[in-house]
Amino acid sequence: MAYEFKIERTASPKAKESLQGSVFGTRFTDHMFILDYDKGQGWHDGRIVPYQPIMLDPAAKVFHYGQTIFEGLKAYLTADGRVLLFRPRSNIKRMNLSNIRMSIPTLDEELFLEALRQLLVVERDWVPSEEGTSLYVRPFVIATQATLGVSPSHQYKFMIILSPVGAYYSEGVNPVSIYVESGYVRAVPGGVGEAKTAGNYAAGLQAQEEATAKGYSQVLWLDGVERKYIEEVGSMNVFFVIGDKVVTPVLNGSILHGITRDSVLQMLKHWGYEVEERQLSMQEVADAHRSGELKEAFGTGTAAVISPIGELYWQEKAMTLNGGRTGELSQRLYDELTGLQRGEKEDPFGWTV
Ligand code: PMP
Repeated sequence: MAYEFKIERTASPKAKESLQGSVFGTRFTDHMFILDYDKGQGWHDGRIVPYQPIMLDPAAKVFHYGQTIFEGLKAYLTADGRVLLFRPRSNIKRMNLSNIRMSIPTLDEELFLEALRQLLVVERDWVPSEEGTSLYVRPFVIATQATLGVSPSHQYKFMIILSPVGAYYSEGVNPVSIYVESGYVRAVPGGVGEAKTAGNYAAGLQAQEEATAKGYSQVLWLDGVERKYIEEVGSMNVFFVIGDKVVTPVLNGSILHGITRDSVLQMLKHWGYEVEERQLSMQEVADAHRSGELKEAFGTGTAAVISPIGELYWQEKAMTLNGGRTGELSQRLYDELTGLQRGEKEDPFGWTV
């Protein structure tokens, strides 16, 4: 099915400034995509319009009951001038899982891809070309019906906004220090941990602020029942190299299905590594550190791609990993993934679009 969206172009395009030293997610392009939903009518009136504030009734359900979901992916400019997306179908699939969990109507995959494609055609000149930069894509849905009853909204808006972003690390990959959080939890079994929904992020801010005050850059989340098993790091999935195996927590319902996580798993298997997706306790990691078996650890996510862990703080003890330096495997994965995303390396997986 062909989708035709109305396009209204801005009369006052913004200047495109250098992204050197820019803060993630602070700049936006000239246009955005909007699609409305009304019960009985379905999704309708897709359009590309100038980037602008939106007007909502103060009673809109999103403000009160948090019925909202979002996604995040990146577009890259290749050396020969093409715009590449990394596994966008995985994002729309995950977005629909989030929609279902939050009682939001799902979106057609082809409509999503076509909306994104047409928006990127309009905003082509906004895909940055400086070393390490990309165009961050933020699709999201909000419940807009103006009623205070606690029930699924009858109206929604799906939107896509675009943000040119600089290199996550100005001097390449840098190990981060992590505080293992034994008090607050991010998600619980049967909860919404595997949905990309606003409340998960709001609920994590207090722990993050406290960890920042102690000098740590992220928290490591443990399971919400026993606070024993490792779940995620900040808003990234997490991997540990123990002996000659690479171990990551199994997707248990409270862990987000990271697309970088899945890519890393596939890449490691392709390279012949032995990988394990299983329950992994913090005690096992600490024991592996003590015995010298813990070689390296890293987080995975769209924003930083690979984020090596230099230090883990747990039960009043600090563990330094790989001498606080970026591990060999972290670096190799970073180079391969970013190379492939930018069209500089072979893509044997067919991930770039
Ligand atoms: N966990 C959480 C909680 C996240 O928000 C993200 C970022 N989307 C990830 C993991 C990593 O997912 P991805 O690799 O798809 O960016």
